[in-house]
Amino acid sequence: MAKMITVQKGTKDILPIEIDSWHFIEETAKRVFSNAGYSEIRTPIFEATELFARGVGDTTDIVNKEMYTFEKSERSLTLRPENTAGVVRSYIENGMHRLPAPVKLWYKGPMFRYERPQAGRQRQFHQVGMEMFGISQPTADAEAISLAVNYLNAIGLNDLDVEINSLGCPTCREEYKKRLKEVLKPYLSELCPDCQKRYEKNPLRLLDCKVEECKAIYEKPEVKEVITSDFVCPECHEHFESVKKYLDVLGIKYSVNKLLVRGLDYYNRTVFEIKSNNLGSQNAVCGGGRYDSLVRNLGGEDTPAVGFAMGMERLISLLPQKESQKLDAYVVSTNIEETLKLVEYLRQNNIKVDFDMTNKKFTKQLEKASKLARFALILGEDEINNGTVSVKNLANSEQISVQKDELGGILKNVR
Ligand code: ATP
Ligand code: MG
Repeated sequence: MAKMITVQKGTKDILPIEIDSWHFIEETAKRVFSNAGYSEIRTPIFEATELFARGVGDTTDIVNKEMYTFEKSERSLTLRPENTAGVVRSYIENGMHRLPAPVKLWYKGPMFRYERPQAGRQRQFHQVGMEMFGISQPTADAEAISLAVNYLNAIGLNDLDVEINSLGCPTCREEYKKRLKEVLKPYLSELCPDCQKRYEKNPLRLLDCKVEECKAIYEKPEVKEVITSDFVCPECHEHFESVKKYLDVLGIKYSVNKLLVRGLDYYNRTVFEIKSNNLGSQNAVCGGGRYDSLVRNLGGEDTPAVGFAMGMERLISLLPQKESQKLDAYVVSTNIEETLKLVEYLRQNNIKVDFDMTNKKFTKQLEKASKLARFALILGEDEINNGTVSVKNLANSEQISVQKDELGGILKNVR
């Protein structure tokens, strides 16, 4: 036998037994997002590497360690590690700023990050998310958060922790960064190599470090005091207060987490994360926030924006497994010609139906029918002569005889 080729580390097949769950969360996304006025956008899986270097930020783990980058025709290309940068590129390139604001978009699809695979962490995974362009008011931040919560509720996830924070604006953040660097200076040599780089390039990201030794330093009283201080300017403060007020009005429970800075460089003002209480260490299902400077940084006009992304594998892992749906019917007959005609007729009429292609014995076919379908459609000699079909309900073995052209209606009604 030839050597078997296996699936790549950190990637997974989505098999037929799970596909109903995927369809369910995808269809629910379409419904919930379009009810709120969002249209779906599908952007390419690969983009210019520079888009992510500039769009996600070159101090992030994603850009520094996690990108799948390759060269083709002397161009550096990257498999998208997230979709905000791609959507923003498309927004700019397609002149969507000329559309009436807000421009509301949602997406779903595969993302690629070179990470250490573990439960809830893959190298190819899927995200569903939204981006809204053109609104600077806190109503947009509140809508993004409520949309995320509504979606999670709609798929059946209710035990959620919503954490929010304000990262302020570039102006008030400058002062905060300065204070953070001052208080951390004595500990600089104790920080992990990544944090030592962050200290210079993007001190806010220090708070996002997962290394225990670093976390311990951020717990020290004098450091913690700076971290948890209310540093934002009056305008940013008011914006954040309004977001909180709107969430209260909507009945959305949340807590403020001052350590929440998010992994990406582009956020300002509101950031948020939603955690599920029944997921292990990778318990973040949703991350998002406001990014008012990204469109400009990527070559567009100044456009405020807010968005979020959710990990679809993590959502699926939280849902009870959906039972795979049975066929509506299975034709049981030894007359192949009549079977082919009946199956064709039913499929044209939108009935999920199959039949035995190997022309096994009647009883074998009936056995198979009871495994695969809800009804057996028995087509014996009598039935064929009378133009009828015997419909056997495989759940209770009740059987009735019906005219062939009534079948479609009957099977649809009992679905
Ligand atoms: P984490 O802290 O778990 O690495 P992140 O900040 O890198 O998350 P985002 O870039 O905000 O994550 O992505 C949003 C969501 O996408 C996460 O909350 C998570 O549900 C999911 N996600 C991120 N990376 C992966 C991955 N490698 N495998 C599966 N899901 C992922
Ligand atoms: Mg990550």
